[in-house]
Amino acid sequence: MSIELPNLPYPYKALEPLISENTLNTHHGKHHRTYVDKTNALVKDTPLAASPLDSIVRQCAWRATADPATMPLFNNAAQAWNHAFYWHSLRPMGGHGPQGSLGEAISSVFGDERRFADAFKSAATGHFGSGWAWLVVSDKKLKLHNSANQDNPLMSICEVQGTPVLALDVWEHAYYLNYQNRRPDYISAFFNVINWNAVAERYAAAKK
Ligand code: FE
Repeated sequence: MSIELPNLPYPYKALEPLISENTLNTHHGKHHRTYVDKTNALVKDTPLAASPLDSIVRQCAWRATADPATMPLFNNAAQAWNHAFYWHSLRPMGGHGPQGSLGEAISSVFGDERRFADAFKSAATGHFGSGWAWLVVSDKKLKLHNSANQDNPLMSICEVQGTPVLALDVWEHAYYLNYQNRRPDYISAFFNVINWNAVAERYAAAKK
């Protein structure tokens, strides 16, 4: 079974001017495509060749710690999964903040929506180097988590394990064409294009 590059759920220019067409074209069309292509090349003729992407990620996460030869497959498969999740964390401008039970949970854990945004932005800004900032449901509770490089909370090796409900790519390739080294500006822009409906659906599923 071949892993497919998923289409973006919106046109490349849909997040302008906060995340440009050029950024999305490069990020999705080149970076994400490369992770998918490398995953397919590395998984070919292995016992994982018929597995879906999330299964490849989970199985490689622990294998890679014991067998470094599986690390390239793990790296690329995890990045392929992370990017697909990230695209569906975004939507064109004009929506609302967290509503309903998600909004109540955010207020309960972080104080209110603004304090949540401050905590998320601070964590994402402070992450050193390439990686991801996550909002995760862990033990039925919302938690923030940063992960390095390709790691994500699906993995048993991750410090905070759980079900991701929101992801932010903080690799430079996600923002350099728009914001150069100004990661905080990219993170502030991200808060104007979060797909809160998708986050709420993930949260409801994770709480079941
Ligand atoms: Fe990326």
